[in-house]
Order: sequence, then C-alpha cells, then structure tokens
Amino acid sequence: MSTLLIKHAYLATMDDHQSEYPDGGLFIRRGLIENVGPTSELPETADEVLDLSGHILLPGLVNTHHHFYQTLTRAVPAAQNANLFNWLKTLYPIWARLTPDDIFTSTQTALSELALSGCTTASDHLYLFPNGSRLDDEIEAALQVGVRLHASRGSMSLGESQGGLPPDSVTDSEDKILADSERVIERYHDPKTGSMTQIVLAPCSPFSVTGDLMRESAKLARRHGVHLHTHLAETEDEEQFCLQKFGHRPVGYMQAVDWVGDDVWFAHSVYVNQEEINVFAKHHCGVAHCPTSNMRLASGIAPIREYLAAGINVGLGVDGSASNDGSHLLAEVRQAMLLSRLKEGITGFSLSNDPSRKLMTAREALRLGTTGGAAVLGRKDIGSLEAGKCADFFAINLNRLEYAGAMHDPVSAVVFCQPVRADFTVVGGRFVVKEGRLVTVEEAELILRHNKAAKRLVGS
Ligand SMILES: [Zn+2]
Repeated sequence: MSTLLIKHAYLATMDDHQSEYPDGGLFIRRGLIENVGPTSELPETADEVLDLSGHILLPGLVNTHHHFYQTLTRAVPAAQNANLFNWLKTLYPIWARLTPDDIFTSTQTALSELALSGCTTASDHLYLFPNGSRLDDEIEAALQVGVRLHASRGSMSLGESQGGLPPDSVTDSEDKILADSERVIERYHDPKTGSMTQIVLAPCSPFSVTGDLMRESAKLARRHGVHLHTHLAETEDEEQFCLQKFGHRPVGYMQAVDWVGDDVWFAHSVYVNQEEINVFAKHHCGVAHCPTSNMRLASGIAPIREYLAAGINVGLGVDGSASNDGSHLLAEVRQAMLLSRLKEGITGFSLSNDPSRKLMTAREALRLGTTGGAAVLGRKDIGSLEAGKCADFFAINLNRLEYAGAMHDPVSAVVFCQPVRADFTVVGGRFVVKEGRLVTVEEAELILRHNKAAKRLVGS
C-alpha cells in the first residue's frame, strides 16, 4: 500500500503553531505525511482509506528511557518496597539469569504495551548481557513489532570488588564492551529520515562504570555520530557516591568525562541545582523525565519547569518495568502533568502571585511526550504531524466511558482522564495496532511465553 488517507478525526498536530483540526486528517504516501489539515482539503481517495470519525488523533508518543527486559521482573516481592540501590541489589542476581530468548520476549512485550499506549518510537537501555545475550536480540524483536527503536548499547564495568554497586558477575571487561559497541553501530545504526533502528552508547550509571569507560564511550560515539545516554542524578545516594568516589557532584563528573553536548541525554536528573541546570542548557543536553519510576522508588521530583524555562529539551520515559511497573506512555504523560503540579504545590504555588508559576497544562505534558522526546533523541522526522515527517500517530475512540463528560476538550481529555489503550497505532504508515488489537504480535501467545520466562527467572 503506497497511500493511506485518514479522515474525520479530531486531530492535534503538535506543530509549532499547535494547530488542531476538529475534522482533520492525513494523506500519507510511502510512510511519510504528504498533507495534514481539514478533511475537506485532503485528497478524496487513496489505496487505503480510514474514517476516524469520533476518534482523537495525535502524533505517536516518543519514549526516551526504558529497560525492556525488566518486564520480566515486575512487582517482585523482595523489590517492591525498596529505594534505588536496595532495589538494584535485590534484582541484579535475578537479571544475571537472563537469556537471549528472554531479551527477545521482553522486548516484544514492552513494545506491544507501548504501542497500545500510543508510542511509535522507543529508546531502550540494555546494560547487561548475561548468558550470551546481545543487543541484536532486542533489535530483531523490535523490527518484528514495528516500533522505531533507539537501542542503547549499555554497559557495566565497575563491580563490587572495585567499589561499584553491581556484583562482578553482571559486569564486562571494557575492551569487550567497546568492541561490541562498535560492532552494533556498524551493523545497525541508520541515521536517515524514517530510520527504524538507531544505536546509542549508554554506560549504565556513575556507580556501575569507570570514568575511563565513560570517556572512551564518548570518543567512540562521536567518531560514529551516535548519541550518548546514561542515568544521572537519580537519587541522593548517587550524589554521595559521586562526591566520595570521583570528587564531583554527578553533573560535574559528566563535565569531567566529556559527557556534555547536544548528543547527550540523561535519565532522571532529579538532584540538580540551578548552576547544573545552566550547564545542561549551555551544552544542550537533554533529559528523560520518568515520573512514575521516581515516585515508585521514592527518588524525588525532577525540576521539569526549571528545565523548560532554561530551554532544555525534555522527553518522557516510562523507565524499566521493574520500577513503573508498566509501559503505558500516555499514562506517563498524565503522571508528568500531575507530578509537576504537586511540585508546584509543595514549593508554594498557592501562595505565589508570580505569573510565571503556572501549572503544567495537558498540552504541555503532551509536548513532552511528542516533540520533546523527538528533540531529546535528536530526531527531526518524528514528534509532530507535519508534511514531510514520518506518518507516526495514534488514535483513540472518544466514545467510551472513561471520557464521558469530557468532550469539551478532547485533547485534554486524553491526559486528564484515566489512560486507555489506543485503538490505532501507526508507524511509518504501517499499522501496529488496529481497532484495539495488536497487528504484528499475537497477544495471548506472548503473554503465555512471557509469564513462563518470568517464572523461570524469578523462581516462583
Ligand atoms: Zn532507568
């Protein structure tokens, strides 16, 4: 099918003018948007025509931080009520049993969940490779599901015996990490418009890799023009670790290892001061905000309004499914809006007459999940519905109980009301979800296979 016409949807483009069309649509040719606007101004027919009367249509959501494999270890009893370091120490030995099949299956599960929540591009951070697992297992699964993937080749090299947090058994030698990083860049990285697979280099965190590996990873990434990603300033424990081990706060440590630039984005970045926010702004570093995970692990509340005021690109991440414990990106949009409001409340919004202290709106939260995420990943071809961009979008039938009474403003309804499943999710003009069902994955079979793998891994 070379052309696809979508018509009669309530369409929000998320373009710079925030254009919205109550009776709008898209004309798509070979995976790219050729026209967007009122239905009456679009071509009248195409190879496939879809009437989305009664549906809202939005740009596909962009997930900027995840660990797909953790869908196998959701709600593990011993890790339910722990902060980050204790949670990690409980789960590392379980993750050490992961196999290549587990990586494949968990990728299918996470991406299926994401697609059903409106996500069309996801970044995943895979940082342990036990029992012969490879990034290739994840890439192969993602291509089958049909969601765009920014596969972060993660790594851990600083084990307990050298003062790191993870057990030595889940770390690798730095030579092996760098060689495999270069291999996957050369094999898979596609920087072109409409790319389905991009590679990112992503040493896991300050407390699990050495400064040398950070520096060498940055050099390698820049030689090949791929982006860099890591966890940063997630908790106060990490801040103490960095001060003691490296003599810097986390952001200062990143500057010391040459990890600032418009090719770098950090997950979480909760514990930063204004000076460090200015460092991000000056060097155009991006931030992946993961509100549910930050609440789940009692980590803290990231200063998102301060980041946005400083002009920093902010995207959303569901984070790993052992600290969320879901992969519902539209739900994360809602969490981002609500958590930002809570922070304003805690810091005295209700007492303030400062006009700049506004509550985050539904549309601002949606921008984090769309254009914000695309900017963080360095993509100009996704994030909004505009001519020349990828035909990545999702649609939800508005005629449902969850939205009853909220039709005064359908765009806000999908953020304020209880998050639901997408009825249609399309990536590059191809359906991944159609009429509420996954097209590329057999859901019931996947659930069985996934639960069997989780049972073997967790041992209960
Ligand atoms: Zn994470």
